[in-house]
Order: sequence, then C-alpha cells, then structure tokens
Amino acid sequence: MLVPIHEEMTREALSSRVSSRALEVIIAANRKQDAISGQIGHDEFHFDNNAIDEGRRYINEQRGFVIASLLSPGVLSAWIAFGRLTHTAQDFYSHTNYISMWLDQYPGTPPTPPEIDPVQKDLIESPKIHSGKIYFPMDVLYFVPFLRKVSLALLPHDSHGRMNLDSPKQGPRFAYARAAAVKRTQYEFEILEKILTPEMFAKFTDM
Ligand SMILES: [Zn+2]
Repeated sequence: MLVPIHEEMTREALSSRVSSRALEVIIAANRKQDAISGQIGHDEFHFDNNAIDEGRRYINEQRGFVIASLLSPGVLSAWIAFGRLTHTAQDFYSHTNYISMWLDQYPGTPPTPPEIDPVQKDLIESPKIHSGKIYFPMDVLYFVPFLRKVSLALLPHDSHGRMNLDSPKQGPRFAYARAAAVKRTQYEFEILEKILTPEMFAKFTDM
C-alpha cells in the first residue's frame, strides 16, 4: 500500500490501544519498510514476488523480536519490531490474491468491506495464495504516472502492476484490502495481548 495509507490504517487500528509515544514509533518503523533500502532485495517485507512463506516467517520473526525486546530493558526496539510486523501484515492484503479469493466465495452480492475476515484459515493457508511478480522494467515504469497506461498494457496478469490493491485507484477491491489490513493489525495486537505477561503487555502499550 502507499505509505500514507499504511500510516492511516495503523493509526486507526492502534490509536486507542497504545500510547501516542508508542504509536509514533510503530508508525515510523512501518513507513520505513517502504524506503528504497526496504524495497530492494526485501520481498518478504511486502509479500512481493510470491514471497509468501518468507513474509509469514518475517512476521513470526518480528513477533519474536517484540517478546525478546520486552524481556530486556527499554521498549523502543519492541515497538520498532511491531511496526515492521504491521507493514508486512498489511501488505498481505494489497499484494496477494487473498481479497479476490475471499470475494470469490460470494458470487452475486458480496458482503461489505467491514465484513471481511482477514484470517479465514482455509484461505490464508491455501496453496493458491500468490502475489504479484515484479517485472523489470515495466513494473518500475508503472510508478511513473504518464507511463502507467503503457506499462499496464504490457504487464502480465500475475504482475505487481496488475494485481496490487495499493490505493483507491485500483478500484472497489481496495476497500476490502484496507478493511482487512486494519483488522489484521488489531488481530496482531491481540496476539501480543494473549502471549505476553500482563507486565510485558503494559510495558508494550505504555498506557
Ligand atoms: Zn510495502
């Protein structure tokens, strides 16, 4: 998703659940994943190029860092790890076919975006989950506004340019990706609430 959308969604999901100091650190770490250094050679940050297992592993790894950080003095690195985790969790919905597969269950009248289940087990674990491949140079030209049309005409169906739900410009399915990403961010927070001791959780929320 676009960086401002990541920020907006993270705010929406967490502003009532963590202190504003924690929230700002989480958001900064989430945004940083889309910097150039996080784009090249880091498909797992964004579930790009079919890095499905790698993306899942990255989320688990960052959750591990949150726990490890909370066991040592200071809390900053726990917030940073959670910020990274939320970025990847959110990109799952804009870069994979999860939303399409979820909507395919309801031919005719689909449920509204707020009704989406972001972690429907059979879908999330389905071997059919895949994500957009980055095709050079067309997927780079896609980011140049006046070249977007040309690049889209030349890009295959399984490309990032054709598949992404990064912004409202991508049509009505974007609202489902956004709603799922906000819910997933809250779901990830709730996992922490379950696995952390009350003391560690209080340190994390900083409330
Ligand atoms: Zn990303």
